[in-house]
Amino acid sequence: MISISEAIAILKENLPPPVVAEYPLDQAIGHHLAADIRAPEPAPRYTNSAMDGYAAHWSDLAGATPERPNTLAVVGESRAGAPYPGRLGPGEAIRISTGAMLPEGGDSVIRVEDTREEGRSVIITAAKRRGQDVRHRGEEFNEGELLLRQGTRIAAPQAALLAAVGIERVLLFAPPTLAILITGSELAASGTAIAEHQIRDSNLIMLKAAVQECGATLASCTRVADDLQATRRAIGQVEAEIILCTGGVSVGRHDHVKAATEENGFTPLFWQVRQKPGKPLYLARKGKTLLFGLPGNPVSAFMCFAHYVRPVLGVLAGRPFGWPTLTARAAEEMSNRGGRPNMLRVKASRNQEGDLTVSSGKRQGSHMLSSLADGDGYILMEPDQTLKAGERVEVYSYDFRG
Ligand code: AMP
Ligand code: MG
Repeated sequence: MISISEAIAILKENLPPPVVAEYPLDQAIGHHLAADIRAPEPAPRYTNSAMDGYAAHWSDLAGATPERPNTLAVVGESRAGAPYPGRLGPGEAIRISTGAMLPEGGDSVIRVEDTREEGRSVIITAAKRRGQDVRHRGEEFNEGELLLRQGTRIAAPQAALLAAVGIERVLLFAPPTLAILITGSELAASGTAIAEHQIRDSNLIMLKAAVQECGATLASCTRVADDLQATRRAIGQVEAEIILCTGGVSVGRHDHVKAATEENGFTPLFWQVRQKPGKPLYLARKGKTLLFGLPGNPVSAFMCFAHYVRPVLGVLAGRPFGWPTLTARAAEEMSNRGGRPNMLRVKASRNQEGDLTVSSGKRQGSHMLSSLADGDGYILMEPDQTLKAGERVEVYSYDFRG
């Protein structure tokens, strides 16, 4: 049996390489950039007005006050999508809308509130400085400047920024593909009648949900009885970067996942980790494919997904190997009296001071799904470790979306 950190080290040495592919922007949301992106053009693309008002040259505006206003001739207009085609001469102004192109010969904008239009003239009653209320070409960034770094997740703001500079396709880390293989002769699939001696399969929907939350792609879902041949065949048929099996990986006479995996040419990397829950966890590799033998117990399977599978999906999606964590304080004293490191399921809440605190659920059995459904994450506790109330602790979150 190996320790959690030994298992993680082996996992890190055997990570499949990320796959990079080009995607249209509207399919890039939630994925991570595989390369830096530089601006193909400046922003703003052209010098424009920051206000609704009048554009003119500073030499015709300087010194205007309510008592001694300047009067200019209104010779046209520049509006969104329809710039003023001419050049401003001395004593001339045009009406201008926010975002509209500044005309040649104009260098400043006077907002509507500081003007009055009379006949074909505009009376300027205030002017602050040359260049006021003008947004200059390239003032946000210039062509060639770094816009987004490799690894950045594309969400609404990043997609908008790329669209604004005309980038329509991006290089991304392709979402990893997974296959799920549920083993167990006692299992009743959802939607089927259940006999007295059967267990409802909850691992399939749980893993599907977890895979979906991680942004990965499900290649296939298969169900197989506790039968060596059937399991061998099922493993031989799936194609994915990552195969998740559940059940059949303990020491029972009907546990065939390890043998079936190795008969398919996989090399075992580890089996059994000193942890609770999830001790029977098994990892094997064939070429670029990793196979996780998750324990059948739904809680164990979920914890093993959270601690071992999720970071791999993160790496394949272009993130560093790691976990979504939060720092909290223990709401009460918590201790691990067992002989193995414990992934203690906890619930998070805010105390009266607004600090995040965690308390351990009453139900911790590895067969008790309510211990998960009622929680927000888990903390790793070494044997004989005690956390005092108020002590700071790192919480591994069940929220895999980040
Ligand atoms: P195993 O790892 O196959 O020995 O299974 C351990 C426990 O988890 C047994 O009580 C199984 O009935 C249960 N179990 C296995 N697979 C599932 C599943 N897909 N859904 C719910 N419970 C399961
Ligand atoms: Mg079983």
